[in-house]
Order: sequence, then C-alpha cells, then structure tokens
Amino acid sequence: MGIQRRHFLQRTGGLALAALIQARPVEAAEKGFCIPNDPLEALMAGNRRFAKAWRLAEQNNGTTPRTAGANPRCFNSPRALATNQHPWATVLTCSDSRVSPSWVFDTTPGELFVIRNAGNTAFTEAIASVEYSVSVLKTPLLMVMGHSGCGAVTAAMDTNPLTPSLDRLIQPIRENINGSSDIEDAVKRNALASASTLIQRSAVLAEAKASGALKLVVGCFQLNSGVVSLIE
Ligand SMILES: [Zn+2]
Repeated sequence: MGIQRRHFLQRTGGLALAALIQARPVEAAEKGFCIPNDPLEALMAGNRRFAKAWRLAEQNNGTTPRTAGANPRCFNSPRALATNQHPWATVLTCSDSRVSPSWVFDTTPGELFVIRNAGNTAFTEAIASVEYSVSVLKTPLLMVMGHSGCGAVTAAMDTNPLTPSLDRLIQPIRENINGSSDIEDAVKRNALASASTLIQRSAVLAEAKASGALKLVVGCFQLNSGVVSLIE
C-alpha cells in the first residue's frame, strides 16, 4: 500500500462522525465556492434548465439557441479549484453516454462528485467513493439516478450470453430487479436497491443519513424529455 493511500485511510479512518455535521456549506461559500442553500432544489432547478434547453434544441434542428438575458450563475474559478474542491452533491449513476450528470443538472466544474458504472450499482468501489465524498468532502446530498432505456438493466432482464466480466457487472442488477420484466419498473427497482445497498453496507453513510448530515434521494432520468423525476 502506497504512502498516499495510507494517508487517505488514516484521514478517513480518523474522522469523527460528529465532523459530518459541521456547518461546511457556509465555510465553503465564504471561500468563494458555489454552494447552494438548498442542494436538492439546486439540482432539480439545474435539471429544469437542461430539459428546457434540450426541448429548445429539438425545436431548432439540434442547435441550442443562445438565451439572451439568462440569469447569471455561479461558476467556480479555476484558481480555487486548483487547490481545493467543495462539491455540494454526490451522484451515483450509469455510464451511459446520454446520462452525464454535469449536463443533466446543468452544473459547472467542482459542483458534483460523480460515480458511474453501467447500471449504477453500489459496488464496493462505488461505496468507497461515496464515503469519501460524504465524509471527507462533506457533500450534503446524495442522489442515485437510474435512467430510461438502461442497457445494463435490459441485459440483466435478458438471458443472452455475456462475457464473464459483463456477467459479474449485471449480477447485482439481476438480484435488484427480482424478475421484473418491465424495463421502467426494473430501472426504478435497481436504483432504489442501489441506494439501499449504500446505506446497508456503509456505517459512515448510514450514520450521516441518520444524523441529518446527508440527504439521500433516488431519481430517474427520462431520455425522451430530459427530466429527472424523484422516485424516493
Ligand atoms: Zn444505463
């Protein structure tokens, strides 16, 4: 184990859970970072901007018209981001090229801490990354987001032969969807189960949620509208 990794573990292992409830947003905002007062509302407002731009692009033959008079928005400066980060939300979602959280929530660099794999599964590595974001970076909001037409969930519903690696990838999804044959239902079951797994397998995340330091929500992104709906 390298020095850097040991250092990381010492830092995270030594974290008192009480530190999770520090008034971190105010501190970070005072340092010039973009920190919304209501992270969930900021996330959903960003999605409304994205969905609107997507609809406009569809009406304009695939181009996004410049919106004159658009409200000025917060943008973390490169200088601030070069030495620090204060993301205000963590998103666990699918690797699908159409589901990029930074676009879907209309955010700028430094705002979202993102973990992705095909099927948004809470693998051990994903749990560890979320723990880092919540306990070290102190993100106050965690969203697990599935999406319509997910290829990984579709593969889990099929019996087609897969490579050994892909088979391992979709095994937890198969368990999560519990035999569902409806893709919309299966996507929701899978996202809800991933969120439950994060809490069940991580004492740090369970404690953060129980203390109120962390809000956990589950969303579903609709590809045909660009809209993210909260399902929990
Ligand atoms: Zn997917």
